[in-house]
Amino acid sequence: MDMIQTKKRGSLIIISGTTCAGKGTVIKELLKRNSNLVLSTSYTSRNIRKDDIKDETYHFISKEQFEEKIKNDDFLEYALVHNNYYGTPKFEIEQILSSGKDVILEIEVQGAKIVKEKLPETILIFILAPSMEEVKKRIIARGSEDKEQIITRFKTAYQELNEISKYNYVVVNDKVENAVKKIEAILISEKCRVDRIEEIYVANQEEFMHELLMDKEFENIYKPIK
Ligand code: 5GP
Repeated sequence: MDMIQTKKRGSLIIISGTTCAGKGTVIKELLKRNSNLVLSTSYTSRNIRKDDIKDETYHFISKEQFEEKIKNDDFLEYALVHNNYYGTPKFEIEQILSSGKDVILEIEVQGAKIVKEKLPETILIFILAPSMEEVKKRIIARGSEDKEQIITRFKTAYQELNEISKYNYVVVNDKVENAVKKIEAILISEKCRVDRIEEIYVANQEEFMHELLMDKEFENIYKPIK
């Protein structure tokens, strides 16, 4: 019999990151390499964009439908980001965690704080670009924001950096491969936490020692120290 039995329940992992930290790419790679990981699909009231995939990027619903869901207590957390609602579905996540799979939530800092308060065992990981100069380079290269939007994103990034101490881990995304390896290492270590042990099965010490001394095989190798 195995000596310890650990929790079968999956881990809840929140990945946040400042603008252009590359968390989307890192998460995609993590999912590709780890079949036990599932990315949760949030609900949002924002408009669907051309690159979005319905019910994959988000479940897109109206503001009224979202408010109805808030009333029904359907969200683990929700936040208003740039005037749009975003929320993490409670029921779906509970189902995946109970099945033993690990769930990633890609949510921003306010949401992360609420989830951590409700479920303290949640693992909070913050992904950072190597430097603000690198962020500037990446954001200009992406070319999807105007000057004002870039300034807003930088302001948010600086505010979010103040919240980094609330996270459990910080991962610098210098290279996607390195960032993915670091997150995989975090997930492996988290599975070895002592508080994941549910039961320890060890025979009674006296009984075990008695059996050991009676064991013929043991007798053959047992040589008293002179
Ligand atoms: P976007 O509209 O660009 O996809 O996302 C805007 C922001 O909303 C991102 O920072 C993203 O992490 C955050 N977000 C996405 N889903 C959720 C959610 O369910 N809850 C919270 N609190 N934030 C979310």
